[in-house]
Amino acid sequence: MNPSETAALGERLEAVRERIAKAARIAGRKPEEVRLIAVSKLHPVEAIRAAFGFGQRVFGENYVQEALSKQDAITDLDIEWHCIGHVQTNKAKDVTGRFALIHTVDNLKFAETLDRRLPEGKDAQRVLIQVNIGNEPQKAGVDEHELPALAEAVMALPRIKVCGLMCLPPFFDDGEAARPYFARLRELRDDLETRLGVRLPELSMGMSGDCVQAVEEGATFVRVGTDIFGPRPVKG
Ligand SMILES: *Cc1c(COP(=O)(O)O)cnc(C)c1O
Repeated sequence: MNPSETAALGERLEAVRERIAKAARIAGRKPEEVRLIAVSKLHPVEAIRAAFGFGQRVFGENYVQEALSKQDAITDLDIEWHCIGHVQTNKAKDVTGRFALIHTVDNLKFAETLDRRLPEGKDAQRVLIQVNIGNEPQKAGVDEHELPALAEAVMALPRIKVCGLMCLPPFFDDGEAARPYFARLRELRDDLETRLGVRLPELSMGMSGDCVQAVEEGATFVRVGTDIFGPRPVKG
């Protein structure tokens, strides 16, 4: 990255931060209740280093191999890595213990493998349960009717800590169209807390096109890629 590309990244990052802070204030929330995950998938390590230089500490990656090789390439920076992509159960052993938070637990087998394969001596693996909030056949995520049973089963695993819910609503051009799905995820979370008598503080929802609406509906993590790093290179 040349200096002008780096400067442009810094400006985009700052604009996203301001957008999120403003949405939080409008909703009567404190801006620090919302954490920005910079989604760096398919962008080079240099882009991550540049964003880190502008104070960004939390990064989200989607693809297991790419994420792990980036982690290995950036051991000198204190980055909080989040796994936000769908992970096949046979790769659970590769991700467990390597991310501060895994957002995409949607079946018990995956969670059981995370639990069983977590290296000795590590703290419990923190996870979110991904809900298929738009009921889309092609999308990952547990069906909302199966959510309580899954959440209860995953919470029973000794080395897994369930922290909340994540969703990826149907894609719309207009962020307002996603709002009802965000409201629904929060409602599902509230119901689960009551039903199971637990605290599930985290809601991971909202991307470049709809992070404002997500924050207004209660997001504690927003996952923003394009508006920080620019358009993504095509996956090779
Ligand atoms: C890629 C991705 C994002 C970021 O999307 P942008 O539209 O580039 O902000 C957020 N969440 C998930 C799960 C993703 O896969």
